[in-house]
Amino acid sequence: MLRVLLGIAFGWVIWKVLSGIIRMLAVEPEAPDPDDVVPTEEHFRCIVCGSEATVTLRSATEAVAPRHCREEMQQA
Ligand SMILES: [Zn+2]
Repeated sequence: MLRVLLGIAFGWVIWKVLSGIIRMLAVEPEAPDPDDVVPTEEHFRCIVCGSEATVTLRSATEAVAPRHCREEMQQA
């Protein structure tokens, strides 16, 4: 009887953890506020592969360089 109760409790814990992870992954990020986006003209280059990108709009509150090849791109 104890083994059955432990099995049910263990199954319930696994169910709660997995459903919480799936619920966390299913949440869509909020759309950016149009007032927090400003026009810009910034050129970036990947230090690993040499790819280049041009940013024409960026966040007014959070100025973070884009990432490529898992590294932050450098301003060109
Ligand atoms: Zn790259």
